[in-house]
Amino acid sequence: MEFGWTPKQNEYRQRVRTALDELLPDNWDEFYVKRSYASDEAMEFSRWFCAELAKRGLLVPHWPTEYGGNAGEDWEHFILGEEMKAAGEPRGGQYMNINWIGPVLMKYGTEEQKREHLGGIASGKVIWCQGFSEPNAGTDLAALKTKAERRDDHYIVNGGKIWTSYARKADWCILLVRTGSERKDITVLLVPMNSPGIRVASYSGLVKDGHLNEVFFEDVRVPVSARVGEENRGWEIITHALSYERVGVPRYHVGLEALDMMVEKLQSEGRWDDAVIQTLAGELVAKFEAARLLTYRVVDQRVKRQPPNTDANLSRICSLEAVQDLMDFIAQFAPDALAGGHLLLDDYYRINTPAGITGGTNEIQLDLVAQRGLGLPRK
Ligand SMILES: Cc1cc2nc3c(=O)[nH]c(=O)nc-3n(C[C@H](O)[C@H](O)[C@H](O)COP(=O)(O)OP(=O)(O)OC[C@H]3O[C@@H](n4cnc5c(N)ncnc54)[C@H](O)[C@@H]3O)c2cc1C
Repeated sequence: MEFGWTPKQNEYRQRVRTALDELLPDNWDEFYVKRSYASDEAMEFSRWFCAELAKRGLLVPHWPTEYGGNAGEDWEHFILGEEMKAAGEPRGGQYMNINWIGPVLMKYGTEEQKREHLGGIASGKVIWCQGFSEPNAGTDLAALKTKAERRDDHYIVNGGKIWTSYARKADWCILLVRTGSERKDITVLLVPMNSPGIRVASYSGLVKDGHLNEVFFEDVRVPVSARVGEENRGWEIITHALSYERVGVPRYHVGLEALDMMVEKLQSEGRWDDAVIQTLAGELVAKFEAARLLTYRVVDQRVKRQPPNTDANLSRICSLEAVQDLMDFIAQFAPDALAGGHLLLDDYYRINTPAGITGGTNEIQLDLVAQRGLGLPRK
């Protein structure tokens, strides 16, 4: 593995930074901090911003040209992700479209579905949400109860989803439904969010606005042509989707920026010359750098078309542990930052509070490493 960036990759990163400089409004930090990237305002902004990125060939660089990409290498996608995350994710929820919804449709979608959806995603104007979790089906996703009953050429969907980020502004939902009596009889449907019978109810919490939504389905009619893959075979598709999500968010990048802010704050308060604080900060840098290298290893494997393995789980565990330790560091040495004293650190803390939960918890990642990576027995 080569640890340095090539001149072409550096040039690409510079292009992304220039686009960010040109496209983000002067009040971006204030706009973003006050609302969060999942808020209604940020989501609407993302429609304009992503469309502009698309015009510059910077939205889906790694996608094949037939679907609106530049057939660039996966590294470009990761450089893009690092820069966007560091800038506060101005793509809003559209990072999901690019990271895994589009790729899932490329692999499992029908020609008609590809035609209908991939162009929209690559143009940056369409917002999707992910309707997987239910009140009693989070980690144990196969316990989901939202049901789709087949009637001729359509399904009738009834049930409810929870934690559906971006649902209020989304145009489409990639929805998991139960279609049979066996535990894994799960099917994937593509559902327009303006379908009659869908209702979104939001609630508030520590995580900033826009993530906390419930979505209710009452006799929602979905054509069979909106099904991805075969009926009752959605589990394979979900597994594929989640493998993309694990290393999709470069948390080390923004973690190191937040750590820099902490150091600056401690220096300005004359508290930096404390050996305990310096040791903890040094350990955090080491942890984030280890997470970065593990993530790069997974990307390198993808670029070389090697089969997925538990390195992706390890990379996620390492990233999330570093994030958790940084949050503890902030809470211990700068509690005032979380009480209105430092908006960006407060934002980091709130946004990352659920980081160890969304997309699969660390306990589950460790289970997967134990069983699939180390070959340990289940019991
Ligand atoms: C901010 C936020 C945004 C989200 N956005 C979305 C979204 O857009 N779409 C969506 O579908 N979902 C979303 N989620 C839901 C997320 O995927 C779930 O919260 C997650 O899967 C965990 O499920 P749960 O909350 O039901 O917790 P539980 O499954 O009840 O888990 C609780 C705890 O028990 C542990 N645990 C559970 N089972 C085991 C086991 N077998 N072995 C060891 N430990 C176990 C878990 O690791 C965890 O620590 C979001 C969640 C949050 C917080």
